[in-house]
Amino acid sequence: MRGYQCSTCGEFHSGLPFSYGSPAPAPYFDIPEAERDDRVLLSSDQCVIDDKHFFVLGRLEIPVLDADEDLFSWNVWVSLSEKNFNRASELWETEGRESEPPYFGWLSTSLPCYDVDTFLLKTNVHTRPVGERPFIELEPTEHPLAIEQRNGITLKQVQEIAECALHG
Ligand SMILES: [Zn+2]
Repeated sequence: MRGYQCSTCGEFHSGLPFSYGSPAPAPYFDIPEAERDDRVLLSSDQCVIDDKHFFVLGRLEIPVLDADEDLFSWNVWVSLSEKNFNRASELWETEGRESEPPYFGWLSTSLPCYDVDTFLLKTNVHTRPVGERPFIELEPTEHPLAIEQRNGITLKQVQEIAECALHG
């Protein structure tokens, strides 16, 4: 198992995560806990708030340039239009659904460890085969996260993310 010497606390941490996730889209956490049962439908892959905000969970994948393990992944929520959300739900178990054209999605997770907020970045949501979460492709802007997705990151950056996730 991979581990690393932490430059933040000086300890050795065993394991180096290659993916992180959030249990719900950011707006969910703004809803008072007492109201969530009435206002929110939440599963491991979909979320609907107030019958008018529609979210799916996807994988914002980033190539890791100097590791055998292919990809780093932020598992993030994106909001879809009601039409596209319904379409995605309809096709949930349909073989060949990956031929679907991409849907527009607003990134609805605020990732830690970035100086510039990632909330509401524009994305394309690419449907994948049944059983796989969609691939989230960021609009190719100069946002640090978009640059990382275009250019890839190194193991050192994966470690920096781990330290940030662990120590804030
Ligand atoms: Zn540490």
